[in-house]
Amino acid sequence: MMDLVLKNARVVTPFKEFNGWVAVRGERIAAMGDNDDPPRAERVIDCQGKALIPGVVEPHTHLGVSGRATHAEEVQSETAVATLGGITVVFEHLRRKDNLYREIMPSIIDEVSPILHVDFGFHLGITKHEHCAEIPECAERWGLRSYKLNIGGYGKEQNPYKAVVADNALIYDCMVNAASITPQGIVMTHCEDVALVDHFIRVVRDERGGGSGGLKSWNEARPPFCEDLDMRRAARLAKLTGAKWYVPHTTIDTGPGIAADCYREGTQVVLETCPQYLYLTCEDPYQVGALGKVNPPIRPREHVEAIWEGIKNGLVRVIGTDHVPLEKGGKSIWEELPGFLGMQVLLPIMISEGIHKRGLTLRQVVEICCYNPARTFYLYPRKGTIEVGSDADLTLIDMELEAECSDEWLQTKVTNVYKGIRFKGWPVVTVCRGSVVMENREIVGKPGWGKCVQLPGDDREPALDLSEAIWR
Ligand SMILES: [Zn+2]
Repeated sequence: MMDLVLKNARVVTPFKEFNGWVAVRGERIAAMGDNDDPPRAERVIDCQGKALIPGVVEPHTHLGVSGRATHAEEVQSETAVATLGGITVVFEHLRRKDNLYREIMPSIIDEVSPILHVDFGFHLGITKHEHCAEIPECAERWGLRSYKLNIGGYGKEQNPYKAVVADNALIYDCMVNAASITPQGIVMTHCEDVALVDHFIRVVRDERGGGSGGLKSWNEARPPFCEDLDMRRAARLAKLTGAKWYVPHTTIDTGPGIAADCYREGTQVVLETCPQYLYLTCEDPYQVGALGKVNPPIRPREHVEAIWEGIKNGLVRVIGTDHVPLEKGGKSIWEELPGFLGMQVLLPIMISEGIHKRGLTLRQVVEICCYNPARTFYLYPRKGTIEVGSDADLTLIDMELEAECSDEWLQTKVTNVYKGIRFKGWPVVTVCRGSVVMENREIVGKPGWGKCVQLPGDDREPALDLSEAIWR
């Protein structure tokens, strides 16, 4: 007797697709079949031919940074809305300046564990050399193997979250330490040359009368070549140190080419982009004004299409949302906070814009939203696929469901920059480790079900380290 069976599904994994059923016992997938004869179960969900994919692994959020709510409140509310997006693992970028992570991780893990709706992981923000020195200890004790540096992005102008800019010495130190552990750590860099960004903000805002207006001005104040230059600098350092290098939120048309150069040279890199860079542009009718302020900026159409090409070519390999729950509105592009929500619209944008408009397959979407992020951050094959023995993280999608991104639909209390926009293809059921946490667009999970997935030494088998393949 199984605990849960999902039958009459179009099952799509990174490797295969079939019509049939998936059976769950406890927290894991126990059996699957391509026939009409599933085993008996406590609960049976008839999928009516809808698509069943692995739970989405979301590698990029910032929680508790805006001051609108506490860290704990946002971890709870945002892991709950993550289920609406079919997401079963959320990674948070944790950033501290004053503390060492070895001092604060036990209390942070204690704080979040009782309130998580889905599984959870951390990337550590590296803001000083003492953080580099504790990389081996953080990896061993809490499984923390990914480290983020603001090598650019936030300088003297416009640094509302008080980011610390890493110089070349800090990048080098972090990469050397990350490369020294087994399996190797992953170094993530926000790439936008700080001096140039400061310069262009002053020029556009103060000398050019604010520029062309709205998101166009923001793009003029942080032009694409700022991102390009910093990517090339980080690529050199990654080659020099042998580090595994991850680029969050890639937005520029030259990004995929930089990755291709890295692969030719043997530098290990994974490029991430975000749904906003695949849908919004800084030009009408796809611009949303100052609400869409984000770093790096929303770009002109040619960059959006180049990133889609990068996805098709396998050069942009992971989707993250850079989700920041913020209250915005009523301010100019120069005064507004950067960032906005994204988890609820990740799959709708990938399905609507990727599959329906640009001919991607659902298998490709599974690869970049589930399989690749799970491999990149050492969660595969526990996460990121549908196989017997994997965690029962499953997302049922109605490919034909068309709906508007209303506040009610996204169930958000923060500013919804996608208000009024329609997408086709939405998650309708989310299962996290065997437990139904979202059904018919209602959050039905309970806080405390989610676990910190990176922690070593729980009673499950360790994740097999098959991630080398992504680090080519
Ligand atoms: Zn971010």
